[in-house]
Amino acid sequence: MKNQLITSRMVACLDTTDQIYKDGYLVIEDDRIVEIGYQKDLPKNRKYDSEVNLGNRLVMPGLINAHTHTPMTLFRGHVEGHTLFSLEGWYNTIRVLEFDMTPDMLPSAVSVSCAEMIRTGTTCFVDQYFWMDQIVPSVRESGMRAVLAYGIVELGKEEARNRELAAAAAFLESLKDDHLLTGWAGPHAFFVDNSITAMELEKELVEKYNAGFHTHFGTGQEENDHCRKAYGHSALTQLNEMGFLEYPIIAAHSITIPIADLHLLEGKPFTVAAAPSSGMRNAAGVAPLVELLEAGVNVALGTDNVTNNNSYDMFKELSLAGKLMALLHKDAAALPTRAILDMATLGGARAIGKEDEIGSLEVGKKADLISLDLDEIGWAPMGGQDVYTAIVYSITGQHVRDVMVDGKWLFRNDDWLTVNYQQACAELEIKHSELAAKIKK
Ligand SMILES: [Zn+2]
Repeated sequence: MKNQLITSRMVACLDTTDQIYKDGYLVIEDDRIVEIGYQKDLPKNRKYDSEVNLGNRLVMPGLINAHTHTPMTLFRGHVEGHTLFSLEGWYNTIRVLEFDMTPDMLPSAVSVSCAEMIRTGTTCFVDQYFWMDQIVPSVRESGMRAVLAYGIVELGKEEARNRELAAAAAFLESLKDDHLLTGWAGPHAFFVDNSITAMELEKELVEKYNAGFHTHFGTGQEENDHCRKAYGHSALTQLNEMGFLEYPIIAAHSITIPIADLHLLEGKPFTVAAAPSSGMRNAAGVAPLVELLEAGVNVALGTDNVTNNNSYDMFKELSLAGKLMALLHKDAAALPTRAILDMATLGGARAIGKEDEIGSLEVGKKADLISLDLDEIGWAPMGGQDVYTAIVYSITGQHVRDVMVDGKWLFRNDDWLTVNYQQACAELEIKHSELAAKIKK
């Protein structure tokens, strides 16, 4: 067993008691936090296997990005000015690029994604894509924690359904006992491009592997229109009638989630993963965050793909969530700053059923943490601006200096220790050139 002492100007635990230690410390034993407190209370003459003084930095829990598609860095910049939030828009842009993509194009794109997430303070993410065998090695190399959902598109076609479900089952089996990576099912969108037959089979898979669903939901009115026509009620009601709400679901976007049906989600393991930047760039909108919180629905935040977002910086999402709600509700206090921070920390942890392990800095929890540079711009005056307000509205992912996951440093003093970012970028350029040449033909 190895222990390490970390000292820092400030430790913001973001736990339920909102503990902030000025001149604080943490002791980490292997992968877990075993002590947090004030440096003045540290026992003298105690020996540690390693000691790290972060200096004038603020330590806080790592952020959780609840909606990503890491291989899509490959397509960054390729669908500017188009919306991906309709079946037609997505099919005519992304799907066309995917037809020209080959599996060897994925690993470097995923590595660049992981490097950017680490650089901007994300320690855990929830992905959705196919060809997971090409994704897992890069994520593993990065040292990040992740829930990887096997993306399933079948458009009612039996052959595609059988092939994708078999691949998803093999993938879930392969991650059954993994330490940092968890396998989920990722139907691209219920009702829209996953038939009822496929959905029922996916439910069996999730039941068997004690997993969850990471899906797109409510990006427009497609599911609701379909379900009203076919069943006479909303897509959420139909999911309830089919028994889906008994399983963990991360419903990305949920812009058109019917507010009148939110009572169905009471006590259910359902999370709305709002992606404010993506919703705006796709000219679609944003989840009704105020109403969702009022109804007691768990809310997490995500960046979505960076094809047309175009950034993994979760600090931007924090800021936009608050600003959008203030604008929509014409109320500057529509969304409290602390509630916004919760979405990117414990909200994300609850989404994946790991709120007892990550999402806050507490004794007994995993050591997933980041440090923010207090010498950088945006904090002053420290006596005036509330620290949570500074984190949500004033600073960005560029303030991140150190990142630890599971007790291991992934980023120290502005440098990656796991991903070779320059090499991954160089490889991605080559793979992108190959893709671009295929598209031209
Ligand atoms: Zn998405």
